[in-house]
Amino acid sequence: MLHNIEEEFRCEFEKIETLNEHDYVVTYAGDTLLLKCESGGDAIPRTCDYSAGELEQTRYLFSIGEKSFFLNYAPIKETELLRYKNVQALRELAPKWMAFAGATAYHLGYWYAHNRFCGVCGKEFGHSDKERALVCPNCGYTKYPEISPVVIVAVTNGDKIVLTRYAHAPYRRYALVAGFVEIGETLEDTVRREVLEEVGLRVKNVTYYDNQPWGFTRTLLMGFFAEVDGGREIRLDENELSEAVWVRRGDMPESDANISLTATMMEAFRRGKY
Ligand SMILES: [Zn+2]
Repeated sequence: MLHNIEEEFRCEFEKIETLNEHDYVVTYAGDTLLLKCESGGDAIPRTCDYSAGELEQTRYLFSIGEKSFFLNYAPIKETELLRYKNVQALRELAPKWMAFAGATAYHLGYWYAHNRFCGVCGKEFGHSDKERALVCPNCGYTKYPEISPVVIVAVTNGDKIVLTRYAHAPYRRYALVAGFVEIGETLEDTVRREVLEEVGLRVKNVTYYDNQPWGFTRTLLMGFFAEVDGGREIRLDENELSEAVWVRRGDMPESDANISLTATMMEAFRRGKY
């Protein structure tokens, strides 16, 4: 999966204000980010790829091994080398640590960009010196980074599994039932509710499989297998899904299990590991 990288990911807050020329610097504009586009493939730019004086407003984000990643706040103009691309382009970056770093930086960058002012009194937030948190200088309200918990559910019946396609998402391949955890729910409650809402099935024997930080949607994904309980007829929620079908293990398409938890779970079932 995207986060399974060889070197250590360290997200502890540090107040680092000086960039060296080999540090990686991410710049976002909406759902696009600046990538260094060369014939050998796209990459996250380093300090030395930006023009002198462009990186006056930066914030340290995290490290992977010896590599440090910073967020740049100032708008940057495109050049021949540095071009804005949709964040989905990050999925294709190699090596994998760079794709993971880009998605994770996007999650943090989005949070900073959408939390400029205190939600209680409206004053501009400052940054804590001690931890990753925004602090209001007027009323003291402290805001921590936001992660939305999401469940992904593989609904099974013997050697069959429910595969879905989302109605409105850019991702068009087969997926699994998925949805956000609501306030007051346990993860198992969410599994049962989402499966009933999206495909009209009841489930039992809900079993945890694995989890994955997924910066593209600012979520923490938690995967479960669950067995259908009772009727097997699918009732599709057409607001959420364009398709949901029972597929036999042997008829499943082989999936690229390298990146996402969904694909990893589908591949585990296809190979009979679950
Ligand atoms: Zn305030």
